[in-house]
Amino acid sequence: MGEQTRHGTVHARTIQDVFPRCIRVCLPAPFPLQTVNAYVFFGNDGVDIVDTGMGDDATRRTWEAVRAQCGFEWSDVRSIVLTHHHPDHAGCAGWLQQRTGAPVRAHHDAQLQLTTMWGDDAETVCTDWVRRFLAHGWPAERSADMQAHMRSFVDVVRPLPMRWQLMHAGQTCMLGNDAYVVIDTPGHARGHIALWDERRGVLFCGDHVLADITPNVSVSPGGEADPLQSYVDALMHVRTFHVLCAHPGHRGAITQFSDRVDAIVAHHRARLARLEAMIDAPMDAYACSTQLFTKPLTLHQWRFAMGEVIAHLDHLVGQGRIRRVEEGHRMTYQRRV
Ligand SMILES: [Zn+2]
Ligand SMILES: [Zn+2]
Repeated sequence: MGEQTRHGTVHARTIQDVFPRCIRVCLPAPFPLQTVNAYVFFGNDGVDIVDTGMGDDATRRTWEAVRAQCGFEWSDVRSIVLTHHHPDHAGCAGWLQQRTGAPVRAHHDAQLQLTTMWGDDAETVCTDWVRRFLAHGWPAERSADMQAHMRSFVDVVRPLPMRWQLMHAGQTCMLGNDAYVVIDTPGHARGHIALWDERRGVLFCGDHVLADITPNVSVSPGGEADPLQSYVDALMHVRTFHVLCAHPGHRGAITQFSDRVDAIVAHHRARLARLEAMIDAPMDAYACSTQLFTKPLTLHQWRFAMGEVIAHLDHLVGQGRIRRVEEGHRMTYQRRV
């Protein structure tokens, strides 16, 4: 607390230099990950922000302190760019937009996901999603808890941004004085993008690739049918880039980028093989999750665990390695006959 740095009273770990005229802001997040990274670029024509943190008081206080410490005005902000719609990245976008007047820039699918999940239809989306989890074996006595948990995110993404600039792959996005290319990187989230500066080999990769955590790949409301396929395809695409340094949405920078990509792909292959072996007898996704994740999980972790297991099982179905059987409201996975 109050640790003095050249950035003043903001904690030394909150602001770190990435390269000249670009800083990483470490924002609080109430998840096991604990923090989320935003990046601020200082250009001759204005300030650009990549990702915003949760829309909660702790994050807003941090942004106020960072702004004061770095000595820019809210009106200096030219754009607010989102790598994806998750609350820890997009939650504070509306609040920042209210202060700065800047457009929020994101992929069309990310905008759609954000407004679908946490807009006026949030309650219906939560109800439908819990119903889907129940079909996959989630215990009925915990359905109200799960619904309340999902609903709790509504408060940390409001206000939603009002003014958007939609982006697409191949488009140029100015961050500070440098032009970055928008790269489609779906899988972890529908509409996820990364920002690539080929000249310097720098990639701002959001949650597509993380240093020491495997990014969650889950089915989600309004998400893709086979997010794992999209995810691995997008990983193989960025692996062809000559990335010297990647700056992710959580924790530190990644310098051995292709090694990290290979490790993540290997993790998913191993998980697919393990799940395929598990489907010796008919199993639902909840039963698979309890075998795969044996430590006690929070509701948040359960949602990710179930979403991830369903994504892997559905991918196996898509590959013809197992089959999915629907009986009434119940969904099980079985060996191919
Ligand atoms: Zn995310
Ligand atoms: Zn994240």
